[in-house]
Amino acid sequence: MGEGADRSGISRRGLLAGLGATAAATVAAGAAALPRPAIASWDITTDVLVAGSGAAGVSAAIEARQAGAEVLLIESLARFGGSSAMSGGVVYAGGGTALQKALKVTDSAQEMYRFISEAGGRHPPLDKIQLYCEESVAHFDWLVAQGVPYSEKLTTAKGLPMGDESLYFSGTELAWPARELATPAPRGHVPGVPGMNGGRRLMQVLLARAGSLGVSLRNRVAAERLVIESDGRIAGILVTIDGQSQAIRVNRGIVLACGGFIHNREMLQQYAPELYDCSVPWGNAADLGDGINMGIAVGAAALHMHQGFAIAPIYPPENVLSGIVVNASGQRFVSEESYHGVLGDAIAYHQQGRAWLITDKRSAYQFHQDNFLPAARGSSIGDIAAQLALPRGALQHTVAYYNRHAGNGDDPMFHKSQTWLRPLQGPPYTAWDLSVASAFFPAHTFGGLHTTINGQVLNSFGDEIPGLYAAGRTAAGLPTAPYIASGLSVGDCTFFGRRAGRTAAAEAVGSRV
Ligand SMILES: Cc1cc2nc3c(=O)[nH]c(=O)nc-3n(C[C@H](O)[C@H](O)[C@H](O)COP(=O)(O)OP(=O)(O)OC[C@H]3O[C@@H](n4cnc5c(N)ncnc54)[C@H](O)[C@@H]3O)c2cc1C
Repeated sequence: MGEGADRSGISRRGLLAGLGATAAATVAAGAAALPRPAIASWDITTDVLVAGSGAAGVSAAIEARQAGAEVLLIESLARFGGSSAMSGGVVYAGGGTALQKALKVTDSAQEMYRFISEAGGRHPPLDKIQLYCEESVAHFDWLVAQGVPYSEKLTTAKGLPMGDESLYFSGTELAWPARELATPAPRGHVPGVPGMNGGRRLMQVLLARAGSLGVSLRNRVAAERLVIESDGRIAGILVTIDGQSQAIRVNRGIVLACGGFIHNREMLQQYAPELYDCSVPWGNAADLGDGINMGIAVGAAALHMHQGFAIAPIYPPENVLSGIVVNASGQRFVSEESYHGVLGDAIAYHQQGRAWLITDKRSAYQFHQDNFLPAARGSSIGDIAAQLALPRGALQHTVAYYNRHAGNGDDPMFHKSQTWLRPLQGPPYTAWDLSVASAFFPAHTFGGLHTTINGQVLNSFGDEIPGLYAAGRTAAGLPTAPYIASGLSVGDCTFFGRRAGRTAAAEAVGSRV
């Protein structure tokens, strides 16, 4: 049994014990949600309850509080911040942000929209993308106003800056075909702190801001089950505090911001088998799908549940991009310089999770690394092909074709940039194993509750569930597969989290008794 099942089993027992005999009699095991009459009395009352203290939850809490609501933000774990605090803290922003302007970067909301809507997968959420791009400049100003520090420094190196640079090309903008679909611009905005500390810094700032505004922040409080009125309106929520079940009544609304479900093995098997196979669940330990399941239990629709961020982080170092990536047929299938989310998606979803990076002497990893282990080494391409048991002659054919054109500065199949385009020649040759199950292949989920641009949760008829909101990876938002740029997730969390918080706070007080 997976983690999620274990956890919900314990919760259900705790829930029934806490409710007492009357409530326990009312609630059948596995009931979709608690009917309002099952609650004999409320333990706590608030205007807006936010479940989850990541980027989405804290942004919702800040805005709801600023709109005048009493806000209780609960976090199931001991530490606040969720996956957002583990992240690089990159926010995808553009259209001429203050930082882009200070660094003389030309960009427009239209080009940003074209990139996000055209370079990724099919049928992206155009309404959300359009709004996000139109308001990106103002959203970045909001982050700065909260106190998130950005340095006026740009880097053109590939990958998350490890110095204190705050602006870089965080996605696949410069790789083909994206560079032909929209004018590339650096849009990855990272807090100006060295190392992989951007997310921690972002969350320190936002959590402190929420606290200073008067948001009540409670850790070790797990949201368990929604309580629903007979007319379908959300009345409150059951939570577990120190093993005890408590009922929280909400005057205005509940924002579910509990992250995704990469640590729930059963949900992955059920919804996203390609992510199940990836070797590294990439996220906070409580990424168990609680928010999504609570929403589904009251009739919410869920979208894009199979999609996620499957990552093949072959660079840095950039010299390996002069190698080629091939599948089990010995053929190339993607531009090697693509953003690692695009490469990872191509392997996980379209090549049955198997691929190899073939390098020669110059393009081999120049230092010891354990992310990708050598699956074959040899003095000729034929040696490599034999060790990998590829179809006879296929890899030799691929390399001969690639080399012939690369020698003329051309890559007819995937238009690799001149920076990395050169014939593969000069033994020893190495095949690095990029398979999802054995390589370092992180993944997290994108699927979540169907929401409006204001975070209102919708059922499968497209109707709003009154009083229920969702944001971040609990909702289906901007990130879709293939993931085309770092920062789209935290950007989506903060931007649409804010909107959900504002909308929940605007719900008429006293609308329920
Ligand atoms: C190492 C790493 C680096 C990344 N870098 C980036 C990046 O630079 N830019 C980017 O856009 N994306 C990045 N991502 C992805 C990004 O961090 C996440 O998609 C995003 O932070 C999700 O935010 P969230 O608010 O939805 O969820 P979270 O930040 O995970 O917050 C959800 C919170 O809800 C809590 N919770 C769960 N269940 C319950 C419950 N039942 N009751 C109460 N609380 C609950 C969790 O403990 C958690 O604190 C990265 C991810 C990782 C792992």
